[in-house]
Amino acid sequence: MNHENKSGVDLKEIANLCKRRGFIFQSSEIYGGMGSVWDYGPLGVELKKNVKDQWWRRIVYDRTDVEGLDAAILMNPKTWIASGHVDSFADMLVDCKVCKKRFRVDKVEGDVCPECGGAFTAAKSFNLMFKTQVGSVEGESQDVYLRPETAQGIFVNFANVQTSSRKKPPFGIAQIGKSFRNEITTGNFIFRSREFEQMELEFFVKPGDDEKWYEYWLAERMSWYTDLGINKDHLRFREHAKDELAFYAKRCHDIEYLFPMGWSELEGIASRTDYDLKQHAGAAENGSSLRYFDSQTNESYVPYVIEPSGGVDRAVLAFLVDSYRSENVRDKERVYLSIDHRLAPIKVAVLPLLKNRPEIVEMAHKILKDIKVGGRVVYDDTASIGRLYRRQDEIGTPICVTVDVESLTDNKVTLRYRDSMEQDRVDISKIKEVLGEKLKV
Ligand SMILES: [Zn+2]
Repeated sequence: MNHENKSGVDLKEIANLCKRRGFIFQSSEIYGGMGSVWDYGPLGVELKKNVKDQWWRRIVYDRTDVEGLDAAILMNPKTWIASGHVDSFADMLVDCKVCKKRFRVDKVEGDVCPECGGAFTAAKSFNLMFKTQVGSVEGESQDVYLRPETAQGIFVNFANVQTSSRKKPPFGIAQIGKSFRNEITTGNFIFRSREFEQMELEFFVKPGDDEKWYEYWLAERMSWYTDLGINKDHLRFREHAKDELAFYAKRCHDIEYLFPMGWSELEGIASRTDYDLKQHAGAAENGSSLRYFDSQTNESYVPYVIEPSGGVDRAVLAFLVDSYRSENVRDKERVYLSIDHRLAPIKVAVLPLLKNRPEIVEMAHKILKDIKVGGRVVYDDTASIGRLYRRQDEIGTPICVTVDVESLTDNKVTLRYRDSMEQDRVDISKIKEVLGEKLKV
C-alpha cells in the first residue's frame, strides 16, 4: 500500500456517518463486536444492492456474451486442493511468546514484538481459509472450507454453463457472492474484512485472443467506476511486476482507488491462461476435460481466462469516500453525499412543510404512494424542513419533494436538488415524469 497521496477525506468521518445514519455497523456490537466483520444497516443494504445491481446490469444485462451463476459457498474440498488454495493460500506468521499477539512476517520489522518487545516463535504457515466440518454422523465428519473466492465455483461449472447455455468462446460467467478469508492483518473499516462480497467475471476466450480481451476488460472495468461518478484522478492502474504474479498468470493489473489510507486495490484484472480449467480437469473424477470443441473448425482447446474480480465492500467504500462533501452554507457545515442517483440508497424523500396540517400530510402520503422510481422513497416529518433537507443530503438522497400550504391550492410541489440546493416548482401531475427523467436507471 502506498501511504503517500492520501485523499482529503478522513476514514473515521465516513465510519461515523455510516454508523450514525445506518449504513454500516460493527458486527455483534452489543457483545463487544467481532473483529473485521461488518453489518449493513437499512441504508447500507440499499447502497450495496445498488452497487451489485449496476455491476450485474453492465456485465450481464447490457451484453449478450455473459451468463450469471450463483454457486454455493461450500464446495467439495478437492476443489481447493486442485486450485492450489490448500497448499499455498497462506501467510507466514510469527507469535509473540510474551503477549501472544500474532503478526505477519512481511508486516513486522526487526525480530521482536512491536507491542511488548517479546521474542517471536519460529515462523509458521497459516492458511487463510476458514475450515469447518460437514457430517451428520459423529466422528465421520469431513473437513470443508468456506470459499475464499467465488471464482472456483465458476470454473467447476464451466461445462455445465457452457453446454446448457450453448455459448461458445468468447463468453463469460459472472457471479456475485460472499467469500471468507481468515485475515490476520485487517482494518481500514470495510476495506479488508474476514467476510466480504465479490463481483467476479471469468471470461473464456480462445488461446491467442487473450491479449486483446485483457486490454478490453481493463478499459471496460475502469469505465464502470468513472461512469458511476468516481473522479478519474482518484483511480489508476497498477500492473503487477513479474515477481508479484502467480506462476500461471500472464499479466495482472489492479485498479487502485485513492482511499483515505492511500492508493489501494479496488479490483484485480488477471490473465490466468488455462491454468484453472486444466487443474480441475486433471483432478476431476468424472473425466471432465473442460475443453471446448468448436464444431465449425473441428478444433478443441482449453479456453484461456480473463478475470476481472472486484470487491463489493471496497466499491461501496470508494463510492462513499468519493462522494463525501463538506461545505459551509450560511456559516453552518453542510455534509452531503454527491453520489450517483443510481447508487443512492434513497431516491426521493417526500417532506411536508407543516406536519400539523392534516391536508398537507395527506397530500404528501398520496404523492409518496404514487412515486415509482425503481428504488426506495421515504416520508419524513420528524424535524423542521431545514433539518430534513440536511438529513437527506447526508445520506445522498438526490431529490426531495416538499408539500407546503400553497400546494393545497395550486397543486404544485417543490423539488429540491441535493448538490445544487436549487428548487423547482412542479405540477403534481408532472412529478412522475420529471422524477422518472432525472432518476433514470
Ligand atoms: Zn508481544
